[in-house]
Amino acid sequence: MIAVEEALAYVLKHFQPLESERVPLLDALDRVLTEEIVSDINIPPFNNSAMDGYAVIADDIARASRDHPVTLRVIGDVAAGYVAAHTVERGTAIRIMTGAPLPPGADTVVRFEETSEGLEARGARPTRERVDILKAISRGENVRAAGEDIRVGEIVFPKGTVVRPAEIGVLASLGKKDVAVHRRPRVAILATGDELVAIDAPIAPGKIRNSNEYSNAAAVLKTGGVPVQLGIARDNIADLTAKIRAGLDADVDLFLTSAGVSVGDYDIVKDVLNAEGEMQFWQVKMKPGKPLAFGILRGKKPVPLLGLPGNPVSAMISFEVFARPAILTMLGKTNFARPTVRAILQEELVNDSQRRNFIRVVVEPRGADWIARSTGEQGSGILTSVARANGLLIVPENIALVRAGETVDAQMMD
Ligand code: AMP
Ligand code: MG
Repeated sequence: MIAVEEALAYVLKHFQPLESERVPLLDALDRVLTEEIVSDINIPPFNNSAMDGYAVIADDIARASRDHPVTLRVIGDVAAGYVAAHTVERGTAIRIMTGAPLPPGADTVVRFEETSEGLEARGARPTRERVDILKAISRGENVRAAGEDIRVGEIVFPKGTVVRPAEIGVLASLGKKDVAVHRRPRVAILATGDELVAIDAPIAPGKIRNSNEYSNAAAVLKTGGVPVQLGIARDNIADLTAKIRAGLDADVDLFLTSAGVSVGDYDIVKDVLNAEGEMQFWQVKMKPGKPLAFGILRGKKPVPLLGLPGNPVSAMISFEVFARPAILTMLGKTNFARPTVRAILQEELVNDSQRRNFIRVVVEPRGADWIARSTGEQGSGILTSVARANGLLIVPENIALVRAGETVDAQMMD
């Protein structure tokens, strides 16, 4: 039995970021850039107005006040998307809308609210010939300078940038219709067990539904991988071997099996793994999730296999601890940490397993604090203990007791 860190480090040695592919911009969401993004334009591309108001020359209005307004002659107007037909000269102004290019000659924008127009009813027509400026505004005020966000030639995003909605927006403003990112890993999902029936089958005596296939596939999707669902292999060498080979033919980057890795009579995953490749380790000092097996399958290329335990909670926690970092690594991500919250534990927790204990908890605010309580019965078959949780409390192997009222670190899953 090996420690969680040791097992994880060993597993992760077998993964690296996958090749790059060009994808339409939106498909890059939550993925990692494999190209450096350099801007070929300024953003904004031209000086423009940050407000609806009047484009003026600052020197003209240096002494303007409510008591002593400065009157300017209005020589035109410019809306967003257009270019002013006139040059602002001393004593004149051009009515300007947010986003419109600053007309030549002007250096400052005065908001409507600081002009005679602001004193009148809204919806005033732009036909007036004169405007009173009621306030001295310093030069450059309310003007967005060309290139103030991004300059031509600037490296906007280095390789390795994770693309979130904000990055998508910046890339769109740069005209990047598609971008290069690490491709998504294909992850085989194979359930094993004579007791399993398909999701839409009736439950005959002794049978249960194959839920692991779905929780695993969902977890793969949520992590950013592509699940390749292989259904159910029965607890015999021939069937399990055939289904593993079918998975390898489907060109997967990671193989996930569930169940058949314990010490029961029909737990044959380890044997088949050793026949079709090589098992590297078995059993991890954690609870739930102890029977995890890891090895490498011989295919056209070597494919790492995580033999997840069969119990539904164990399968999910083992996925969280081992499969998730592996998938994120293949996506090119380097930060796997879940956000943590310091929470006050509401009940006593006993950990007599001498293994790392992953307790499913509900974390919620109470006044200025956060509190955490277990989701109740923590058996490895009680999948609702995961469903009801929004966090995990990780009790180290050498801690036998955590008292009510102690402050703990909860890893947030949502
Ligand atoms: P095993 O490791 O094969 O002994 O399985 C441990 C437990 O997990 C048994 O109670 C199995 O019935 C259950 N189990 C195995 N595979 C699945 C699955 N795909 N979905 C739900 N439960 C499962
Ligand atoms: Mg079994």
